[in-house]
Amino acid sequence: MTDTPKQQSLDEFSLIRRYFHRHGHHGPDAGVVLGPGDDAAILAPPAGQQLVMTQDTSLGGRHFPDDMDAADVGYRCLAVNLSDLAAMGADPLWFLLSLTLPDVDETWLSGFADGLFALADQAGISLVGGDVTRGPLSVSIQATGAVPPGQALRRDGARVGDRICVGGVTGAGLLGLQQWQQGMRSGAAIDHFRRPSPQLSLGQALRGRATACIDISDGVLADLGHILAASGNLGACLQKDALPRATAVLAGCSEEEQLRLQLQGGDDYLLLFTLPAQEKLPPGCYCLGAVEQQEGLRLAAPDGTITTLQASGWQHF
Ligand code: ADP
Ligand code: MG
Repeated sequence: MTDTPKQQSLDEFSLIRRYFHRHGHHGPDAGVVLGPGDDAAILAPPAGQQLVMTQDTSLGGRHFPDDMDAADVGYRCLAVNLSDLAAMGADPLWFLLSLTLPDVDETWLSGFADGLFALADQAGISLVGGDVTRGPLSVSIQATGAVPPGQALRRDGARVGDRICVGGVTGAGLLGLQQWQQGMRSGAAIDHFRRPSPQLSLGQALRGRATACIDISDGVLADLGHILAASGNLGACLQKDALPRATAVLAGCSEEEQLRLQLQGGDDYLLLFTLPAQEKLPPGCYCLGAVEQQEGLRLAAPDGTITTLQASGWQHF
């Protein structure tokens, strides 16, 4: 903690030690020569691998609700970063945590650490250092992973004829946010919103198979737009009847609303990827359409009618 009186900052140091320095809690962490506590961490990258790095900052009241449980905040902020590693096909290794706190609230810190480490332990990623400052609540995480040389999944490799696939039913992230704003605090969509599941295993399984990959943070159409633009201004046609229908998580929404959530909802943190014809669709994934030479996004109805879609905006069907 900087910019605070000595006595208080000592106190806060011990809090940080208590909640964030967990040397040897489950044996030595892979590649961690020196973890939190010194001026910087010392890390040994896996031999012959490339490192993959990402950083994401979440602000209270902006990226997560102010009244979200501290444990869910910890889980969610790490999940968002792990989802970026998943989208690159990386194996998670280490992360740094930069916390800005309005005050030192032990109950909040303890809950935050519980949620954070629940996911960190599950994903096999180690907290190796960080920073704490005082100010409006903000959680910034820098995560590092590794991939075999040249095997990272990128956005720029999609080719005409590739299938466009998603790692599950999209739309739950936005539905969860809407339900939260309506005062709901339980249910499948709320759970997804609180604790998104980064698709690390799927990303790793797609190495050497998918031609392009991205994680869905802005919605299928917007994120597909990023892949198509990066891959040389290609286009795509999605099949309306290929979108999963009447799934538990979107139950209760009209068909029109389900389509809107599935194509436009953000915060899903599922992988969106392109697969060449010979590659099998991994379990739990859906194929939504195909990459085409003609620029732009199109939606084909079962009767053959084709509607033009905007990458960002939503259009009625
Ligand atoms: P310095 O002032 O030398 O930069 P800090 O006082 O910021 O160091 O941090 C002291 C040690 O505690 C460092 O090893 C740092 O990585 C670690 N640390 C600080 N904040 C956190 C945190 N939120 N999570 C994990 N480790 C942290
Ligand atoms: Mg120092």
